[in-house]
Amino acid sequence: MIIVLRKDATDADVEHIVKSVKEWGLSPNVSRGAERTVIGIVGDESVIRAKPLEAFPGVESVMPVLKPYKLAGRDFHPENSTFSVSSGRDGDDPVEIGGNKVVVIAGPCSVESRDLLLEIAATVKESGASMLRGGAFKPRTSPYAFQGLGVEGLRYLAEAREQYGLPIITEIMDVRDVELVAEISDVLQIGARNMQNFNLLKAVGRTSRPVMIKRGLSSTMEELLMSAEYVMSEGNAQVILCERGIRTFEKMTRNTLDVSAVPVLQRESHLPVFVDPSHAVGHWDLVAPTARAAIAAGADGIMVEVHPKPEEALSDGPQALLPQTFADMMKQIRGVAAAIGRTIQE
Ligand code: PEP
Ligand code: MN
Repeated sequence: MIIVLRKDATDADVEHIVKSVKEWGLSPNVSRGAERTVIGIVGDESVIRAKPLEAFPGVESVMPVLKPYKLAGRDFHPENSTFSVSSGRDGDDPVEIGGNKVVVIAGPCSVESRDLLLEIAATVKESGASMLRGGAFKPRTSPYAFQGLGVEGLRYLAEAREQYGLPIITEIMDVRDVELVAEISDVLQIGARNMQNFNLLKAVGRTSRPVMIKRGLSSTMEELLMSAEYVMSEGNAQVILCERGIRTFEKMTRNTLDVSAVPVLQRESHLPVFVDPSHAVGHWDLVAPTARAAIAAGADGIMVEVHPKPEEALSDGPQALLPQTFADMMKQIRGVAAAIGRTIQE
């Protein structure tokens, strides 16, 4: 930690800081320059972080040397993290997450019925998706909107996995559902609205399932990384970070896709970084272009919504890709991945 003092800081201010830092069991190192005095503190940054250094008289700014996301960051874990998920069926290859192959997750916004889910699973599998998505517990803005099929939806997801060999991902909204969802789902999704539900993050951190955390609607990348830290601090190191668009002043799209989040998060963290272009843009015709951009930027995976009758979808119809549009997008992203030396996992 480096403390930069104000120009008008007095010797008494410096002494006060030095004395306090020593009392905390840390070593202060004072450098007096012509313009400014700077105090470097060596020792456990977590101890220093808990102290209100900015509140000391004479302090102008405090700069951490290490990142606050110790487990999610690259400081202590320089290599990329990889892990795999499996459908559990004999003969199916596991899906590698965070490696050179880009993972495509596709499926409906919500699980609406058994038949529809199986139909969508068949088409996305046919076009080359490697995982199936579908919400059983839905975080809807209105309490009057379709809230999802709940446990019944989980059962249909499990059936689709068994039939098509696609590992599944579904959202958990409530700490009370963690055990049940973790029993069935291969990857646990924390939705944007729950990115800072710290009790939920800790609860999924105590499971052994990979967790995909979606960036909050108005959350910074540092906050997203700290959410990953919550999961990891409970012992679960299998975390995927997902950029899904953030709120800006722009109204032409549902949210604004922050493509720069991909290289920034990858620079800061060893965790796999995915992009959900569907929720970022909110219109089906913008999904393929932004999916291509995400992969060109280096995303380790994408997640998109697909529905055979978007006009009848119970949630997020406007952003759903028709199966044919999804198939076209898959062809395009194979080319984009190849251009940067990667392949799409199939
Ligand atoms: C979803 O993926 O179904 C979803 C609700 O996304 P988000 O949490 O990003 O809004
Ligand atoms: Mn949706």
